[in-house]
Amino acid sequence: MPAIPLNDLRRGYEADGPDLLQAVQGALGSGWYVHGPQHEAFEGELADFVGVDHAVGVGSGTDALELALTALAGDGRDVVVTAANAGGYASVAARRSGLRLRFADVDPDTLCLDPVEVEQLLDSDVAAVVVTHLYGRLGDVDGLAKVCAAAGVPLVEDCAQAVGATGGGRRAGSFGTVATFSFYPTKNLAALGDGGAVVTGDAALAARLRALRQYGWSRKYVIDLPGGRNSRLDEVQAAVLRVRLPRVDAGNARRRAIIKRYVEAGASTLRVLPADGDHHVGHLAVVLCDDRAAAQAALAGAGVRTDVHYPVPDHQQPALAPQHDGRSLPVTEDAAARVLTLPCFPELTNAEVDEVCRVLARL
Ligand SMILES: *Cc1c(COP(=O)(O)O)cnc(C)c1O
Repeated sequence: MPAIPLNDLRRGYEADGPDLLQAVQGALGSGWYVHGPQHEAFEGELADFVGVDHAVGVGSGTDALELALTALAGDGRDVVVTAANAGGYASVAARRSGLRLRFADVDPDTLCLDPVEVEQLLDSDVAAVVVTHLYGRLGDVDGLAKVCAAAGVPLVEDCAQAVGATGGGRRAGSFGTVATFSFYPTKNLAALGDGGAVVTGDAALAARLRALRQYGWSRKYVIDLPGGRNSRLDEVQAAVLRVRLPRVDAGNARRRAIIKRYVEAGASTLRVLPADGDHHVGHLAVVLCDDRAAAQAALAGAGVRTDVHYPVPDHQQPALAPQHDGRSLPVTEDAAARVLTLPCFPELTNAEVDEVCRVLARL
């Protein structure tokens, strides 16, 4: 069998058949290239999908985080509390927004932000808490919303990996003050290039975000808001996303089914993190290994591609470490040494899944 890829974006493109080409052609022929009818329609459809009133299209998931944090900061509040195991996106965005970082450890079962850890770090300096729904699993949004509300701190959900995840009948992105999405090509809702969005139920916050994404304009050529920039989701990408949004739930279900197979096949030397309900959209299939190097070598020997999400926690990143107060984050550090990502995307064939399972069972 040929090598089994971690992801194969061409298969995703082909799975959508002629619909993508038609959508792209329609956008190109319309004469609108930014902030036109496709973008406006997509904003409305995304807001409906998430179950919030406002969606604001932007250029990427990192831009979405940066704009959300810029919109929330102020009144002397300049600290962002977040996890250190989520790829550094929120941290980079916080620094871009001129904010300081304070890292909280994560829950050992979910690897998402632990409300008990967060609560200890909240004070009058904190501008926002960012929870990343890591690997596609909805974090403890109820617990976090509670400690944030008690401290008067807004909660930001980073839904880049969790579009479509559901908890108590509500979608990821509808729990926080504001939520961010990325449509980077490997995400569960993928553009054919860069894209992102911020969603919120707060009309005033949505208006600030709309101004911030376009130079700080309150109206054309009037720069009212400081901290503005240019970050737009273009018409072609919006048209692609409109084709794919209605297909997200089916893709997520397929991802969950693949991870279920891995859980059933996994040997006792590793723990496959389950994706056993619609609170998890299976963005990444992650296993915790006692001996990652050995597991990775055995999988590579059988032609199974793997990766590590993420090998270096934020508080140990060269450019971010100076922000950290030196506390140890034991769960984060342990996970960084043991996580390993297996192939998982909707177009993975059953034969490929069987093959990965065969190798997993022997580890
Ligand atoms: C991909 C990702 C981002 C960044 O999105 P870009 O569109 O690449 O800027 C942010 N947060 C998380 C959790 C991600 O997985």
